[in-house]
Amino acid sequence: MVLSTLRSQFPTLEQSNDGYPLCYLDTAATSQKPQSVIDAMAHYYRFDNANVHRAAHQLSARATSQYEAVRDKLRQFINASQREEIIFTHGTTESINTVANGLTEQLGKGQLILIDSAAHHANIVPWQELAKRTGAVIKPIPLTKDCRLDINAFEALLTEKPSIVALSHVSNALGTLNPVKELVAKAKQAGAITLVDGAQAIAHMIVDVQSIDCDFYVFSGHKMYGPTGIGVLYGRFKQLDSLSPLMTGGEMIKSVSFEATEFNQLPNRLEAGTPPIAEVIGLGAAIDFIQALPTAEIHTKEQELLTYLQDELENIGDVVLYGAHKDNIGAVAFNLADEHHQDVGILLDQQGIAVRCGHHCAMPLMQTLGLKGCCRASIGVYTNKADIDNFINAMKSVKELLL
Ligand code: PLP
Repeated sequence: MVLSTLRSQFPTLEQSNDGYPLCYLDTAATSQKPQSVIDAMAHYYRFDNANVHRAAHQLSARATSQYEAVRDKLRQFINASQREEIIFTHGTTESINTVANGLTEQLGKGQLILIDSAAHHANIVPWQELAKRTGAVIKPIPLTKDCRLDINAFEALLTEKPSIVALSHVSNALGTLNPVKELVAKAKQAGAITLVDGAQAIAHMIVDVQSIDCDFYVFSGHKMYGPTGIGVLYGRFKQLDSLSPLMTGGEMIKSVSFEATEFNQLPNRLEAGTPPIAEVIGLGAAIDFIQALPTAEIHTKEQELLTYLQDELENIGDVVLYGAHKDNIGAVAFNLADEHHQDVGILLDQQGIAVRCGHHCAMPLMQTLGLKGCCRASIGVYTNKADIDNFINAMKSVKELLL
């Protein structure tokens, strides 16, 4: 695929707002969708719409084979060792809830759960609820002053033999990258079950779950050019098989009677009810889209753009960046002096610039930074230098207006 034609595959980006061309710098919240994803979902509804797994008719057979083919595609995409290790959920949030809920029987009073301090609420609250149910204890893994996970503090916490370690691969608020392979190896040595939240990593880098060697890896389709309403829970077969299901009902059973119900095997055991079929098919098209890209070239381009974005923001003056490192992925967090992040966001929007402002579902991180919130600009495969230049010019005019 030629990079110059890449942007034209995203119809949303062709619009203007109040006369300004849309400058979409909110990919970390959700990515825009290529035409191929939109077409794949429309094609399913137009020609193949039927429920999966159950019926004898051809429509259902077509829907089922497309749905299950995406499981195979995902297995290969993240290098899981078998297709049964891929569970479809509605998003990262449901994936983490499935794990946290499923571990209830395995956890007891006083057992320790370690959580990355920069984690998204989706990787905090389900563990808090698990702790409430079981009497387990939660400890945050502190950050260094420059907002990286504090490895020394992590190692010290590991001597307390945690049962679970929950990490972010990439922080959604800051874009900081965790060395998850190294962290998981340490956690494993200490005997912990490991979960890596890959929601912000999956669209920007090659993820190999066997190489990371985590027990669980989770992500959302909508952050990787796919539709909303579809997520993935990868689990090492043995770990996944030991989870009690979050939801029960149709699809996840082998037999039901009023005396005894027998659950199905993986992956069905953890996929109760009618799944989001069109969304799974859309996710399959998103994987095709990503796999057709020249991965190394795209990665280099994204890293160059991010560095350019960080440097240009700093050059404006009076802009404070948070946890900005050259190896960050996809996002930069900032404030304009003491101005309220929301004011900055609204003034940027008036010039067609879409950024995110707020606590970014990472309130503990904001507390650590002593902030109520901040702005975040984030990029995707379609972002180009002109987007960054537009944004920087708009920021300069916001500064002139407010300071
Ligand atoms: N984890 C991270 C790191 C995220 O960035 C997000 C979404 O912003 C989530 C979890 C939650 O994802 P979803 O809302 O798709 O379930």
